[in-house]
Amino acid sequence: MQFKIPFNKPYFTGNETVYIKDAVQTGKISGDGSFTKKCHAFFEERYGFKKCLLTTSCTDALEMAAILLDIAPGDEVIVPSYTFVSTVNAFVLRGAKPVFIDSEASNPNLDAQQLEALITPRTKAIVVVHYAGVACDMDAVAQIAEKHNIAVVEDAAQAIDSYYKGKPLGSIGALAAFSFHETKNIISGEGGMLVINDEKYIKRAEIIREKGTNRSAFFRGEVDKYNWVDIGSSFLPSDIIAAFLYAQLENVEDIQQKRKQLWDRYQQNLAVLQEKGLLTLPFIPDYATNNAHMFYIVAKNVKEREQLIEFLKQADIYAVFHYISLHNSNFYVQKYHEQVTLPQSDRYTDCLIRLPLFYELTFEQVDYISSKIAEYFNQAK
Ligand SMILES: *Cc1c(COP(=O)(O)O)cnc(C)c1O
Repeated sequence: MQFKIPFNKPYFTGNETVYIKDAVQTGKISGDGSFTKKCHAFFEERYGFKKCLLTTSCTDALEMAAILLDIAPGDEVIVPSYTFVSTVNAFVLRGAKPVFIDSEASNPNLDAQQLEALITPRTKAIVVVHYAGVACDMDAVAQIAEKHNIAVVEDAAQAIDSYYKGKPLGSIGALAAFSFHETKNIISGEGGMLVINDEKYIKRAEIIREKGTNRSAFFRGEVDKYNWVDIGSSFLPSDIIAAFLYAQLENVEDIQQKRKQLWDRYQQNLAVLQEKGLLTLPFIPDYATNNAHMFYIVAKNVKEREQLIEFLKQADIYAVFHYISLHNSNFYVQKYHEQVTLPQSDRYTDCLIRLPLFYELTFEQVDYISSKIAEYFNQAK
């Protein structure tokens, strides 16, 4: 008898509540307390990020990025269509127009070969999304961004502990945004982080995050009173969230190791189905590492995708589809009256299936899920 296999199950290392209790006992639970500082130091040391600022979500970190880049009405921002809505909304909120770029045929990341044709004098930023934690072709992106003097922002929501040619994702763009939402590898329920790699944005980032005041400088004793100096909002999380996050970060090696083992097992089990041409498995380019954020398969068409999801559901396995191309959304079509054709983005919209992958999933369960997928293709032909 198999039990229900959910798509995701948040993993708790055990120290979350211990650290939350510590935070409560210090009597200071607002933002930028001792656990927030510990989290910042962890990231800056482990990944060499120049400056880290925890935020209440990745969405907030992206909104901070849009403010920092002075995005304004009339500007254009190049973004993949196959992404989460926050990647785009953050810039649309400042008045920018999204210019959608298609995915690669080999994986859902943006196709850097198509960038040049989309650049206009109004292009202010290129926002890359490292889908499933697999790096985009960052040298190709950087080359075009430098040529046209355009900022690169990494939506690294899924990309913790992953690398491009040895460089940690999140350390390459001028700015990068991470998520600790409970569906990611490292979690705090809701939570995120802005990484600032270009020094010129550091001072203003602190101000924007503190409601447009220079409170951070005040607490460091750099100014004798704090004041309204810029636009801003409340983007910093409570130290209770940071306490939770720190317990997770201390276990990053263990969490990543387990996820990678599960991912590899799927890959091994399903390779034979790919060889038979029945489905496509994730492609990891030579320049990228795999952080096992997600195991997905790409079916041949939407009908097969729906049937396979249903077949797995009958076996109590909860597999799910993912993004719906933003260029086809009602909001985009009605607001901009534009039709764009992005065949790869549409293909992933129709055909991609994410399989259960979480710390407490067992190898036996991965084998069971894999055998059910094989069974689907046996009975389907
Ligand atoms: C999860 C995710 C987000 C949003 O993260 P939040 O922390 O929930 O705001 C943004 N972009 C991508 C690519 C994501 O996967």
